[in-house]
Amino acid sequence: MTDTHKTRLKPTCREVHRLVSEGLDRELSLVERTRMRLHLMVCDACTRFNGQMSLLRKAMRGFPLDMDAPPGPTNPSDKDGQP
Ligand SMILES: [Zn+2]
Repeated sequence: MTDTHKTRLKPTCREVHRLVSEGLDRELSLVERTRMRLHLMVCDACTRFNGQMSLLRKAMRGFPLDMDAPPGPTNPSDKDGQP
């Protein structure tokens, strides 16, 4: 937490992990994505992490988890999938 001034120019693995995770919930800004990509180019660990998160994201999209919605009689198919 004390090295925030360093992360300004050179994102750390921790920050990139955070960006990757946040990228699943919200759209990252151009700056954030650029920094993330620059880091991914030189970091194997984060590239792997990013790949896993991408797979997870696809899995979540492919299999919509209705965790909040109670199992009702309404058919859940074709709800919020492809446009
Ligand atoms: Zn890294």
